[in-house]
Amino acid sequence: MNRSEAYLIEMGLWPLYRKRSAMAVTECEFKTEFTASVSDPDNVKLSDERRTEVANMDWARLKQTVKDCTVCALRAGCTQTVFGVGDERAEWLFVGEGPGAEEDQRGEPFVGQAGRLLDNMLAAIGLKRGENVYIANIVKCRPPGNRNPAPEEAAACAPYLARQIELIQPKLIVALGKVSAANLLATDASIGSLRGKLHHHRGIPLIATYHPAYLLRSLQDKAKAWADLCFARSTMAEVRVLHQ
Ligand code: URA
Repeated sequence: MNRSEAYLIEMGLWPLYRKRSAMAVTECEFKTEFTASVSDPDNVKLSDERRTEVANMDWARLKQTVKDCTVCALRAGCTQTVFGVGDERAEWLFVGEGPGAEEDQRGEPFVGQAGRLLDNMLAAIGLKRGENVYIANIVKCRPPGNRNPAPEEAAACAPYLARQIELIQPKLIVALGKVSAANLLATDASIGSLRGKLHHHRGIPLIATYHPAYLLRSLQDKAKAWADLCFARSTMAEVRVLHQ
């Protein structure tokens, strides 16, 4: 078994590949409708002063500020902040929702079971954590009991992710799950309706797909996630050409 077969098995796609090879799931065929739904970055109500301050921070100050942050109640209930990890000039930015229990303990995003699936998803399209890839979350502190971050918690954290994005200047953002897509695109739409289309967050191309934790429970949607990854890979190729 070669490496890519192993990834397809991990993603629950290998039997599908064998049974339905005519569908060319592994060929990344995915008919897409290109739209340019531009997000509204100003939906977050925060003091202009604080937003401006964060917007001018370098990496070191931003990391320290996140570490010291007590703007919302989440910090009181978590072990540590989880800033983000990876190549600070990455072309690829993957954005999840918020740290879970293992991330809270280790201080790194996506290191639990969902993280292992994310690593395999990355590998399936030739990517590796930390190599031209940055991984961050909408909120930097673990919401208690792994609940979704509340809108005011996401809003409190939004300037940090905004600054990370400005510093990284990714060519493509992949929003993992509804909370991520909802905050980055200022929409209430389901992932099912957002996936398969090209969106933009502050002018940066954005593709939405299912959250790895959801995929662990919903095997039937793994093939769709694979199609989304293939779409992301082909979009990146197009974006690179545009940037030349
Ligand atoms: N789920 C997320 O959305 N982010 C993590 O870092 C871990 C799990």
